[in-house]
Amino acid sequence: MQQFIDSYDFTGKKAIVRVDFNVPLDENFNITDDTRIRRAMPTLKKILEKGGAVIIMSHLGRPKKVDPKFSLSHIVDHVSECLGVPVQFAADCQKADEQAAALKPGEALLLENLRFYAEEEGKPRGLAEDASEDEKKAAKKAVKESQKAFVKKLASYADCYVNDAFGTAHRAHGSTALIAEYFPNDKMFGYLMEGEIKAIDNVLKNAQRPLTAIIGGSKVSSKLAVLKNLVGKVDNLIIGGGMGYTFIKALGGHIGMSLHEDDLMPDALEILNTAKEKGVNVSLSVATVCGQAFDNDTPRQIFDIYNIPDDWEGMDASPASLENWRKIILASKTILWNGPVGVFELPNFAKGTLQIAQDLADATAQGAYTLVGGGDSVAAVTQMGYADKVSYVSTGGGAMLEAIEGKVLPGIAAIQD
Ligand code: AMP
Repeated sequence: MQQFIDSYDFTGKKAIVRVDFNVPLDENFNITDDTRIRRAMPTLKKILEKGGAVIIMSHLGRPKKVDPKFSLSHIVDHVSECLGVPVQFAADCQKADEQAAALKPGEALLLENLRFYAEEEGKPRGLAEDASEDEKKAAKKAVKESQKAFVKKLASYADCYVNDAFGTAHRAHGSTALIAEYFPNDKMFGYLMEGEIKAIDNVLKNAQRPLTAIIGGSKVSSKLAVLKNLVGKVDNLIIGGGMGYTFIKALGGHIGMSLHEDDLMPDALEILNTAKEKGVNVSLSVATVCGQAFDNDTPRQIFDIYNIPDDWEGMDASPASLENWRKIILASKTILWNGPVGVFELPNFAKGTLQIAQDLADATAQGAYTLVGGGDSVAAVTQMGYADKVSYVSTGGGAMLEAIEGKVLPGIAAIQD
């Protein structure tokens, strides 16, 4: 049965908490962005305040074996500082019995990187490149077997399990999903996870209408499942950015050198047909700011999107398209934004993406619910200073994308089951 941080009695209990402390480190192992650590603090602090102790677990990077470069010992001092209590460190996540047992209420222990063990991900390591199918199968079976003992050991340290790692919620790993079965009546989401789930539900389950999705970014192929899921749910679908040119070409347009995927044109047409059948309003770009090279200082010119000359490529949304989109956005009650509508990394081609951020801020100010989730749109709103002007900015790139695709995330299902 799912529990909740606010109502659960942590007095005298030890909570094992999965967080996402996968922070970027420089060559001297200094943290260059501690957002993920700070986002986990409300949950950890609450448990300590309520008389519990915390055993914190996370991965860092993608080590394939024990590798000091990826040791969580690099961040333990900073975690202590943020949490306001000295955090102890267990140098092996599978040998922390004594340290966990000795923890008193209000104390914290950080376990070493879970991914030092192949069992965390449940994927075999060190297989020879020429391994046969049978060898691969046997290795997979072996790691799945030893994964049970790995997870059981982690679970043995604690009385309850809290998952606050939205960034890995789309993975069915030991610490993100499998461990929950050891705590059938003592498992819950942390505040960050609760916030993310509520944001997803606000858009996909309980949306106030009209509901509009703005999908941009580079390629149709990476967002195909997103588009297919959303076209059955939204009232308006705005398609911008690089992916828009595949739609325009599929509709017979001449797109010059613009980014496109010929093999995805049938899918693009299918999405447009589904939209038509369901009465969904699809808004594509009408004109586009083009460049002659993928460069900030390349000459710029606006062309009708169906008639881009051969030696030009579409790189940003034009004022005419943005005007259409602003009208739709301001008339919506719920808006989801995923993917920039231009090459926003180049300042001369960032205007369209900036305008969408402004439109979302204005829609939020007039009462709409706005979620920025998955991919580069999160980086765009954050860099442009709009993160606190929208309703919610997701912390999980891949996890949010899979949620928008309509997939059930294993990390969420393990708690809600
Ligand atoms: P995604 O990760 O799929 O959200 O894609 C983000 C990337 O799409 C960013 O790096 C943008 O520069 C890129 N992008 C957006 N519009 C265009 C465009 N018109 N041409 C090329 N790349 C684009």
